[in-house]
Amino acid sequence: MILEIQRKLKNREITCEELIKTHLDVISSQDLDINAFITKTPETAIDAAKHVDEEIRASKDLDELFKNRPLLGIPLAHKDIFSTKDIKTTAASKILEDYIPVYDATVVSKLKKSGGISLGKLNCDAFAHGATGENSDFGPTKNPYDKSRVSGGSSSGTAASVASKMVVFATGTDTGGSLRNPASFTNTVAIKPTYGRVSRYGIIAMASSLDSVGHITTSVEDSALILSQTAGFDKYDATTSKNPVENYLENIGADINGKKIGIVKEYLSDEIDSEISEKTKSAINIFEKLGAEIIDISLPNSEYALASYYVITPSEVSSNLARFDGIRFGNTRDKFGDEAKRRIMLGTYALSAGFYDGLYLKAQKVRTLIIQDFKKAFSKVDAILAPVSPVMPPKIGEVVSDPMKNYLMDILTVPVNLAGLPALSIPCGFSKGGLPIGIQLIGDHFLEKNLYNLGYNFERASE
Ligand code: GLN
Repeated sequence: MILEIQRKLKNREITCEELIKTHLDVISSQDLDINAFITKTPETAIDAAKHVDEEIRASKDLDELFKNRPLLGIPLAHKDIFSTKDIKTTAASKILEDYIPVYDATVVSKLKKSGGISLGKLNCDAFAHGATGENSDFGPTKNPYDKSRVSGGSSSGTAASVASKMVVFATGTDTGGSLRNPASFTNTVAIKPTYGRVSRYGIIAMASSLDSVGHITTSVEDSALILSQTAGFDKYDATTSKNPVENYLENIGADINGKKIGIVKEYLSDEIDSEISEKTKSAINIFEKLGAEIIDISLPNSEYALASYYVITPSEVSSNLARFDGIRFGNTRDKFGDEAKRRIMLGTYALSAGFYDGLYLKAQKVRTLIIQDFKKAFSKVDAILAPVSPVMPPKIGEVVSDPMKNYLMDILTVPVNLAGLPALSIPCGFSKGGLPIGIQLIGDHFLEKNLYNLGYNFERASE
């Protein structure tokens, strides 16, 4: 879609102002109902669009202009945990209801430099804690495919804004599935890059050893193009890698004949919704038709992934949320929602003397075993194919009051975060009731390019 918009802007078939206004109109007509946005910035977006039109008019070499700034004029939005200079950033929590950052997150400024135009800030579970978007203090985001259902979480607004065409793409974070899960619920594409591939500077931290920054798009090609812009070393984030950033678009359509795709036996259990299992199997068939070799693999320690995640994550959450003390910034701590309080209590307990060894340390040991399982698997296969969510998008209100049910939704996504691996979530069809279903392709560290190649071919073969 982005390359097509670029072509239209270059050929003067549309102006950037028209493009931005069309998207702002979709927001005006739909967002009252969907609730994807917490803050909208239409005036600054229109000003930026006018500026882009000027640049296009004045340019002597449009190819060069778009080559240097491939996202020129593209309407986007940021999850509301990305710091945006002079624009309210709430983390969807009442604690930060009136917080206005004094600087942009690295990804925000990189996307600005590439020419993208932000239309505002998107709803999510408060501090990204959740899988349905219902932990937001600003109300749930509805699923554009069925408004009685959630659009997933925690990046709920990210997915809904893209699926309903309010923006061309949107940013988000994935600590335990928060990009892949909402993408699978809304027929969109999500990339969760390798840990350390994209800078987290300026993003409100959830669990620092797991957080990664990605985006949701409507196509694999768009996803690859955007990652080429956001990835890379950042001197402000010591966890970013110095590995060179690839051109993820290059050879994206190369033949995948002979690629080895692993199917994890533990991931296709009876606990997965039968329509999701069925669609996953059809996806496997498509890959086979494309010439890929399907190989059965086992990740024996996956069964402990969720338990380990829900010890490590709250521990890191309790530490990260300590800075919201109502003194330096933020409102008083009584403004924390139930889920944040639950995680602060669980985390503080897991880290306390006497319990640390048996809980936190043990969870970290399990994490090492999970990483080893994956490493072993990647000595045999190029990528792993798995469902994203074990359940279809729940009705609004269905799981929010039951934390355990909520946590179980993450069972297929958290192993990837524990191991710091990249994963691409792509649509693979609809249930009989018309709800979107997604699969994920998981790769070895820093092999995003491989995932894009597989995803691109699948997207074409599966329409
Ligand atoms: N649902 C998971 C959790 O609540 C993942 C959240 C995330 O990825 N931000 O912890």
